[in-house]
Amino acid sequence: MNTIGHLINGKTFVEGSQSQDVFNPATGEVTKKVDLASKSTVEEAIASAQAAYPAWRNTPPMKRARIMFKFKQLLEENADKICELVGEEHGKIVHDAAGELQRGIENVEYACGIPELLKGEHSKNVGPNIDSWSEFQPLGVVAGITPFNFPVMVPLWMYPMAIACGNTFVLKPSERDPSSTLFVAQLLQEAGLPEGVFNVVNGGKEAVDTLLTDERVKAVSFVGSTPIAEYIYSTANANGKRCQALGGAKNHAIVMPDADMDNAVNQLLGAAFGSSGERCMALSVAVAVGDAAADQLVSKMKEAMVSLKVGNHSDKSNDFGPVITCAHKDKVVGYIDSAEENGAEVVVDGRNPQVSGYENGFFVGGTLLDRVTPDMLSYKEEIFGPVLQVVRVKTMQEAMDLIDAHEYGNGTCIFTRDGEAARYFSDNIQVGMVGINVPLPVPVAYHSFGGWKRSLFGDLHAYGPDAVRFYTKRKTITQRWPSAGVREGIEFSMPTMK
Ligand code: NAD
Repeated sequence: MNTIGHLINGKTFVEGSQSQDVFNPATGEVTKKVDLASKSTVEEAIASAQAAYPAWRNTPPMKRARIMFKFKQLLEENADKICELVGEEHGKIVHDAAGELQRGIENVEYACGIPELLKGEHSKNVGPNIDSWSEFQPLGVVAGITPFNFPVMVPLWMYPMAIACGNTFVLKPSERDPSSTLFVAQLLQEAGLPEGVFNVVNGGKEAVDTLLTDERVKAVSFVGSTPIAEYIYSTANANGKRCQALGGAKNHAIVMPDADMDNAVNQLLGAAFGSSGERCMALSVAVAVGDAAADQLVSKMKEAMVSLKVGNHSDKSNDFGPVITCAHKDKVVGYIDSAEENGAEVVVDGRNPQVSGYENGFFVGGTLLDRVTPDMLSYKEEIFGPVLQVVRVKTMQEAMDLIDAHEYGNGTCIFTRDGEAARYFSDNIQVGMVGINVPLPVPVAYHSFGGWKRSLFGDLHAYGPDAVRFYTKRKTITQRWPSAGVREGIEFSMPTMK
């Protein structure tokens, strides 16, 4: 059976001491193994990145950008293969994998502009004949730790910008769907990246803990669930590292009584059930303002959900695929059971979907729960499955209070025709990414991505302009060249502009 290994110093290899099964979630079969790196293999990757750093740091940004241009081209040429690898191990349908890849490529395109992005700030004559400037220097070896749900896009949020800024990188992707991530890493090698600048180690906690404690690693970017994000952030900080750790979510959509209900239903269907709800920006709660809006929403959703098509990744006519593991399927079903036991109404029940030919797959069908209340476990926690919950409130303020009281603050959206209400909402809601009639307000590559509250630990958001700041440190230089013969005397007072 094929074993997915590591990429260190430009070469792939399998260590062979520990491994884990990789499943095809649509069939439930083990199709590959993934090698789990030991501490010493991770240390080898860090050493390789450390050795490559001095030359890479001094490589002109324009040359770094040219490698990113070539990388973009290779990603596009290999798009079908990448999407197939994502589908085989993650289960997302090829059209959705293509969207993920495109969003990833846009981060590479942004990194192609690195000579412009790295320009510093310059002030002439901050004092007589004194000039001052700030430049943005790379940090050294930086690490990325990524989740299963976007095995291509989320790593591409991190390493193209980190590397373009002059750092070297060690990536620890999800061990659940490692093939596409490793294949894409090999394309970056093929694009002409010097050996050691980018390394990939597959593994679990031992690999992560090595990255978090090794003093050669200067910064860590993490994306995953909130408990792990919190652990990564506190451990990285305790070890003197800069860290940004993006966590879980519970994204609410407010459906106002004046919303174009057919449009809201279409948008909610895609944003709640696309990728089986395994997106950190999935809309998992619809907060309907007023019973009339709620009744209309629920009946239209119920009608539309009859045609949802669940199945294997390769059939483009499917809307979404399986969830990632059998254990995760059981967890999602458990949330539906518990909501039902606590009084929620199961309007559409996806607990036992029939997927012909894929009886052992980890499928959950689209599920609609009505009359969900904030005390229910299914409301409090992130389900990460194809489950949309409807909460009924009387006013928009009540809806906003609900969103603000939730521990997560990743994304949110309002469906309305009222510009004043929308403006008040976007101005005041305590959430990092806001949509107005846009269900998945994932910022484009030239903005930055990040939630508020317990959806992000750290200050700077992922990719875009914040990535330049995260992956560099500012150095400010003040310079004077005294003319021959004109020398200043001793000064004991704080220097000021004379
Ligand atoms: P996860 O937290 O289980 O795993 C993420 C990474 O952490 C993986 O590489 C994994 O190997 C590692 N890891 C897991 N347990 C660990 C431990 N005990 N110690 C050290 N490392 C550990 O997340 P997941 O299930 O792969 O991904 C789904 C989660 O990611 C969801 O909560 C989702 O909301 C979140 N997510 C957030 C964003 C965002 O931008 N905020 C984006 C995508 C996914």
